[in-house]
Amino acid sequence: MYFSNQLIQWYLKNQRDLPWRKTNNPYYIWLSEIIFQQTRIAQGTAYYLKFCEKFPTINDLANADEDTVLKYWQGLGYYTRARNLHHTAKFIVRHYNGEFPKSYKNIIKLRGIGEYTAAAITSICFDKPFAVVDGNVYRVLSRYFNINTPINSAKGVKQFKQLAQTLINVNKPGDHNQAVMELGALICTPKNAKCSICPLQKKCLALQNNNVTLLPVKYKKKKLKKRFFNFFVMDLPNDRTVVEKRENNDIWQNLYQFPMFESTSVIDQNQIIETNLFKKLTHKIPFSLQLFNKKPIVHKLTHQHIYTSFWIIKTKYTHKDSVEWKNISNLAVPILIHNFINNYKK
Ligand code: SF4
Repeated sequence: MYFSNQLIQWYLKNQRDLPWRKTNNPYYIWLSEIIFQQTRIAQGTAYYLKFCEKFPTINDLANADEDTVLKYWQGLGYYTRARNLHHTAKFIVRHYNGEFPKSYKNIIKLRGIGEYTAAAITSICFDKPFAVVDGNVYRVLSRYFNINTPINSAKGVKQFKQLAQTLINVNKPGDHNQAVMELGALICTPKNAKCSICPLQKKCLALQNNNVTLLPVKYKKKKLKKRFFNFFVMDLPNDRTVVEKRENNDIWQNLYQFPMFESTSVIDQNQIIETNLFKKLTHKIPFSLQLFNKKPIVHKLTHQHIYTSFWIIKTKYTHKDSVEWKNISNLAVPILIHNFINNYKK
């Protein structure tokens, strides 16, 4: 119990004052857990507050249309999270009358909720002893117990999950889980761990063995994929342009963008005008073509880097699917498109 007692004592005195720590309403805890899965607290807090204000209950979220939910998510990335939130809110309204299920067994069946989130919700909101294991927990446990099994290997995942579960404080599982994660975020950080003020320092094996900077061990990441997006920005009379919805099963699904051609490398104007999409957009009309950004804009996602070119096509002719530029602000668009529009319309 030393591990858990030390941690909880430290946590109760030192935890950050964060909005979702003031509630144990499972809807708000769920929202916060999903938002902060791949987003830093500094960036995500405003989104959390915005979501709580716009959709104060599960029913409000369920009743919203998907475009509105995606619009509120705009800029957070990993839009599957928003689509799953929306789907699950509707599911809870339909199958649980709008009340969040209480058991781990039912919570983990919900779309977009994995072991980590189910453990967080059940421990924080319903006092059930399920241990969370995220990057912070891996780091704290691997250092405290001086374990060098790679945390991203099947063996490591199993070993750390079992270990975390044996350590959970059955009387205060919510505080315990939050305390380990908070220690990982504030003290046992990836670089420059603050061992001198750590509540676990007396028994930390990595500290005793001078291994803190060597742990946790991780297998090398997959190679990054490079992609090349060429957006065709139609600059039409009456302040209009053309946008389309991304329908395919890829990043930014159901978000809006300018018509886009994906190439296998950076391409020039001669190659652009040979593409079928370009020919379709400019069929039998006079136009001028200009590249907006001289160098591709590199948009970095976790596993892919998107090299982006915006090709401006000016014409005096209108297009049957055109929209007013000002109306694009009502649509959910990738942040890359949002930033481009701000620059272009400046
Ligand atoms: Fe992490 Fe250092 Fe604390 Fe050990 S003593 S748990 S390495 S911060």
